[in-house]
Amino acid sequence: MAAYELIDHEFDVVVVGAGGAGLRATLGMAEQGFNTACITKVFPTRSHTVAAQGGIAASLQNMGPDSWQWHMYDTVKGSDWLGDNDAMEYLAREAPAAIYELEHYGVPFSRTQDGKIYQRPFGGHMTEFGDGPPVQRTCAAADRTGHAILHTLYGQSVKNDAQFFIEYFALDLIMGPNGECQGVIAWKLDDGTLHRFRAKMVVLATGGYGRSYFSATSAHTCTGDGNGMVARAGLPLQDMEFVQFHPTGIYGAGVLITEGARGEGGYLTNSEGERFMERYAPNAKDLASRDVVSRCMTLEIREGRGVGPKKDHIYLHLDHLDPKVLHERLPGITESAKIFAGVDLTREPIPVLPTVHYNMGGIPANYHGEVLNPTANDPNRIVPGLMAVGEAACASVHGANRLGSNSLTDLVVFGRAAAIRAGKVIDRAAPVPGINQAEDAKILTRLDRLRNANGSQPTAKLRDEMQRTMQADAAVFRTDASLKNGVAAMSEIYSRLADIKVSDRSLIWNSDLVETLELENLMACAMATVVSAEARHESRGAHAHEDFPNRDDVEWRKHTLASVDIETGAVELSYRPVITDPLTPYDQGGIDLKKIAPKARVY
Ligand SMILES: Cc1cc2nc3c(=O)[nH]c(=O)nc-3n(C[C@H](O)[C@H](O)[C@H](O)COP(=O)(O)OP(=O)(O)OC[C@H]3O[C@@H](n4cnc5c(N)ncnc54)[C@H](O)[C@@H]3O)c2cc1C
Repeated sequence: MAAYELIDHEFDVVVVGAGGAGLRATLGMAEQGFNTACITKVFPTRSHTVAAQGGIAASLQNMGPDSWQWHMYDTVKGSDWLGDNDAMEYLAREAPAAIYELEHYGVPFSRTQDGKIYQRPFGGHMTEFGDGPPVQRTCAAADRTGHAILHTLYGQSVKNDAQFFIEYFALDLIMGPNGECQGVIAWKLDDGTLHRFRAKMVVLATGGYGRSYFSATSAHTCTGDGNGMVARAGLPLQDMEFVQFHPTGIYGAGVLITEGARGEGGYLTNSEGERFMERYAPNAKDLASRDVVSRCMTLEIREGRGVGPKKDHIYLHLDHLDPKVLHERLPGITESAKIFAGVDLTREPIPVLPTVHYNMGGIPANYHGEVLNPTANDPNRIVPGLMAVGEAACASVHGANRLGSNSLTDLVVFGRAAAIRAGKVIDRAAPVPGINQAEDAKILTRLDRLRNANGSQPTAKLRDEMQRTMQADAAVFRTDASLKNGVAAMSEIYSRLADIKVSDRSLIWNSDLVETLELENLMACAMATVVSAEARHESRGAHAHEDFPNRDDVEWRKHTLASVDIETGAVELSYRPVITDPLTPYDQGGIDLKKIAPKARVY
C-alpha cells in the first residue's frame, strides 16, 4: 500500500454534514463554546435541505386552534404506530420553540396580514386528534423553506466561530476498543490530503440514501454515507424497509412538486378526470398522508386509469387557483413545472408520479441524538462519543411513514437536542481521544484498495443495476415474490463490488473514486432495506406488502435492526421494542394514552 500521511485535527465536537440537521447541531455546539468542526462533502448551502420547499411543522396556532398534543397524535398516526412515543412527544412539544429560534436567527418566514408566521395545511396534519378538518400547521418561506433555513443557519454558525471543512469527504469512523467513537478520517477532495479528526463527540448528519433507487427527488449526494460508516463500524441500522414515496414527483424527471401545492388547493385526477382521492380518503382527500396517496395513485394507474399515451401517470391540477396565489406562495414550483415538464401550471395540469423521497429508517438514536447499539437485554444501549441527527438517523419520530413538513422539524429539534445533550455529557477538561493506529490502517487500506481497484465492473454500471433492482422490487407495492427476487438480485450485485473497476488513480478531484465510495454506502443501505422488507410480513405505513395486507401489531409493532456484513453483504436481523411511554404523564399535562393507542389508520 502507498504511504498515506494524515494531517491531525483535535476538536471537542466534529459534525459530519452541513444540511439542516448538521448546521443546527454545529450552531448549538459552537454557541456553548465547544471547539466545533463541521465537515461536508458539498458546500453547506448546497446540501439537500436547500431543496425543501413546502415547510416546517409546529403548532404555533397562528391560523387557528392547534396544540402539540394534536401534532403528536398526527405524528403517531402518520408513523402507523411504529414511532417511539418519547421522541414523537419531544418533536411535537419542542417544535414551536425551535421555530421561534429560527425566526430570531433570521429565517425570512412568509407572514400573515398581521405579521405572524404564515402556516399552510399539509398532508396528515389535522385538528381534534384526527377528527377535525385539516389544520394550518406548516410554516413556510414561500416554497423555498429549506433554502431560507440553510442559509440562515450557515451564517449563524460562521458567526459563532464553528470551523468548516468544506469539500472534505468523510471516509469512516475511528472506533475505540470499548465500542466508543473517537473521531473520523476524511479526504480533502481538492488537494488529495487526508485528515484525522479526533473528537470527544462525532455527530453524523449525512442525510438520506434516496439514490439507492432509480427515481428519487433527492440530490445525487444523498448516498447514505453515514449509514455506510455505521455499518462498517459493526453497528446496526434501524427500520430500513420504510422508504417514502412522494406522490408528486414530476413524471420523467423525478423533480419534486411540494405537497404545499395540494395544501394550497391543488388536486389529483385520473384519465376520467375524476378527483379519485375523494373515493379513497373521504375526509382528508388529496391531503391524506403520503403513503396513502402514493398507493391510491399506483392503484389508479394499475387499473387502467393513468393519464398520458402510456396511461402511466396522474395529473396534478393547480390551474384553478388564482395566479396571484401561485406567484406568492408557490413561485419555485411554477418554475420547476415549466422547466421539467414544459407546463404552464396556470393553464394545464402537471404530470406526476410517486417518486422515492425520504428514508424513515437510519442510524438508531434516542431523542437526545445519541446513537444506540441495542442488545437483547439493553435495547437502549448508547454508543459513547457518537450521535446521529436528521434523515441519517432514526429517532424514531417517523416510524413507518413520515408526515410532510415533519422532517425539517426533526432536523432543527434534534440538531438542537444533540447540542443540549452534548453540553451535559462532554467533559470539557478531558483530553481528546488518543491516536488509534489499527483503526487508521483499516480505513486507509480500504481507501487504497478502492483507489487501485482494477476489476471488470465499472461503478456506474453496478449503481445502475442496484437502482433498477430496488425500483422494481422494493417500491410502493411489494410482494413475497418481488422481495425474494430483490434479495437474490441485490446479493448478486453486491457480490460484484469485490470486482469493481476504478479508472482514475489520483486523489485530486477524483469523482470516480468519490462515486465508488458512495456506491459502497448505497449498497449497504440497499441490502439492509430489501432484506428487512422481505422479513416483515405485514403492511404498515410505507411498507405495503400485498401478501400480508394488514398491519399486525402483535407480531410486528417492533423496530427492525439490520447488521450488514460488509465483506459479503449478508444481513443479520434482530428486533427492538417500540417505546410506548411518552415523556410526560397525562396528569402532568402529557397526552392521553388512550388517544394514541393503536387503531386502524384511516384518513
Ligand atoms: C426535494 C425535497 C423537498 C423536501 N421538502 C421538504 C419539506 O418541505 N419539508 C420537510 O419537512 N421535509 C422536506 N424534505 C425532506 C428534508 O428536506 C430532508 O429530509 C432533510 O433536508 C435532510 O436533511 P439532513 O440535514 O439530514 O441532510 P442533507 O440536507 O441531505 O445534508 C447532508 C449533509 O451531509 C454531508 N455529507 C454526506 N455524506 C458526507 C461525507 N461522506 N462526508 C462529508 N459530508 C457528507 C453533505 O455534504 C450535506 O452537507 C424534502 C426533501 C427533498 C428531497
